[in-house]
Amino acid sequence: MSLFRKSNLVCLKCKKCIEVTDSKIAKLQYRLAKANDFIPIRESLEIYGICRECR
Ligand SMILES: [Zn+2]
Repeated sequence: MSLFRKSNLVCLKCKKCIEVTDSKIAKLQYRLAKANDFIPIRESLEIYGICRECR
C-alpha cells in the first residue's frame, strides 16, 4: 500500500513542508480503512507546528 506513506510536517511560520514516512502509520491507516469497509483513494496527514529554524 504505497498510497499510505507520506505525512507532512508543516511549519506555520516559514510554510516549509517536511515530508516524513512511517510504515506504522501506513499500516494503521490501511487497517482503519479496511475495518470500515472503505476503499482508500488518497490519504494525507499533516502536522502543523514550528520547525527547528523558526524556533
Ligand atoms: Zn519554519
